[in-house]
Amino acid sequence: MRPDLRTQQRDFLLEITRAITAQLDLSEVLRRVLYASLVMLAGRVGVVALSDKHDSRFTVRAYSGIAADDVPELNNKLQELMNPQDEGGFSREFLNSKLREMADEIDPRLAQSIAMPLVFAQKPLGLLIVFRSYQTSITPEDLNTLQSFADQAAIAVNNAQLYGELNQEHQRLEAILNNSGDGVFILNPDLTIQRVNYAFERMTGWRLEDAIDRPKDEIIVWDSLERPDIEDALEAGWARSDGALGRADTIYVEGDLLRRDGMTISIAITYAPLLTAEGRLESIIASVRDITNFRKAQELQSVFISTVQHELRTPITIIKGYASTLRRDDVQWDSETIRENVAIIEDEADRLTTLVEDLLTASKIQAARELRLNLADADLRAVAARSAARLESQTKHPIVLSFSANFPIVRGDETRLRQVIENLLTNAIKYSPEDTTITLGGRFTEKSVTVFVRDEGVGIPKDQIDKIFGRFYRVDDNLTSRTHGAGLGLYLVKAIVEAHGGEISVKSQVGNGSTFFFTLPRD
Ligand code: ADP
Repeated sequence: MRPDLRTQQRDFLLEITRAITAQLDLSEVLRRVLYASLVMLAGRVGVVALSDKHDSRFTVRAYSGIAADDVPELNNKLQELMNPQDEGGFSREFLNSKLREMADEIDPRLAQSIAMPLVFAQKPLGLLIVFRSYQTSITPEDLNTLQSFADQAAIAVNNAQLYGELNQEHQRLEAILNNSGDGVFILNPDLTIQRVNYAFERMTGWRLEDAIDRPKDEIIVWDSLERPDIEDALEAGWARSDGALGRADTIYVEGDLLRRDGMTISIAITYAPLLTAEGRLESIIASVRDITNFRKAQELQSVFISTVQHELRTPITIIKGYASTLRRDDVQWDSETIRENVAIIEDEADRLTTLVEDLLTASKIQAARELRLNLADADLRAVAARSAARLESQTKHPIVLSFSANFPIVRGDETRLRQVIENLLTNAIKYSPEDTTITLGGRFTEKSVTVFVRDEGVGIPKDQIDKIFGRFYRVDDNLTSRTHGAGLGLYLVKAIVEAHGGEISVKSQVGNGSTFFFTLPRD
């Protein structure tokens, strides 16, 4: 090479090296490396192969002067070249013969090939091969220049690969963060919002673009809070640089949050500090869990415990009272008194049995989310007549039957449907004054039958109508507190009717009585 040419080449090399090392996109780095080598060596064909991280196979990652169809075969040859196995080892002759084979594969007119390993920190990253149409001798000095170019290229490749991995890791974390079922928000040390994820947006109604950079207390607005929020902890020295903070040093708060739309939601937040290597607070990661259902379940559980306690205790106390009275040795009871007392004991025992059965059915529905039915032909009119007769004997309410003529037989579980009718009748009796009439009737169309129970009782406030079908729900008024009930009757009624593919509804006016309807399909 002529000296002026060499200087020119060095300048060019310097310039191109700068351009290459300034790039972080791997494919762009490879493209520039390839271009520079072809220009430097006046090559016709160029290939950059990189070693795979996992199985260290070499594959072509950038090429010029060859058809895409030739790449797979070139990859095969590269394997032979890089893994010499029993072909005589990694000698210069072996390398040359393989490069010759490659050149022949691409174009037999290629006269010379120059291969330069890309090595970084003694780790082979890849191989750069340039094929030329003519043969010229290459001085050791030229080789030196070429090798220093290859070393620079290897640094650039290594940087771009690391950057790529970092990017991938970043994307992985982003994906985890965004798709996590729990809400997440990240705070800067000054307690402004740095990041929120989708679940957080759904829970609070605050979108990232609106929340970002705003102070935390504009976004996390508590309606009620059970323990002090993070500000108190920070003031008390939490996450301070001098503190030896461990993994367990998270802060847990729980309360009702005011969403952006003004609704409230029960949430629990766990705050964890993220510290720099020097122990300075970098950010605070907060994960947010919606605990509304958990709270509801807790509430339901305490309602359950208190009702069941009350409903179980009352009959037991009555039974015990009457039984001990009858057992007294100092009194001789006449047979009439004994009969009356035993009848009361029997009634209370029946009440207990019903309650226990209702509880069991309710828990079965809850566990299986459906009710198993024994389907057969069911004569609802006959069931209604029997139930009315049975209950009429226990109450002062006249029960009037009002079924259309030819009321059809339906397919259903007669025992369960009797439970529905009796629950509705019992409620009508419980929630209406003595001597007022209760009507139990039935109508039908081609497609369905409807049974209704009408009373002239206290009625149900409008805002309670949806709630009375809930488990353990009782309207909170004077009358309810004076009547027995676990709030399970209508819950079971609804479950049974729906298991039949039917629907339950109610029309009611406070003070003017209620009518409960259930409709079942005829097929
Ligand atoms: P319970 O009768 O054991 O309280 P239910 O589930 O049968 O439970 O009924 C739930 C609530 O609905 C009752 O507590 C009562 O307040 C109201 N309710 C049910 N039936 C009637 C009715 N016919 N008239 C007025 N209120 C009713």
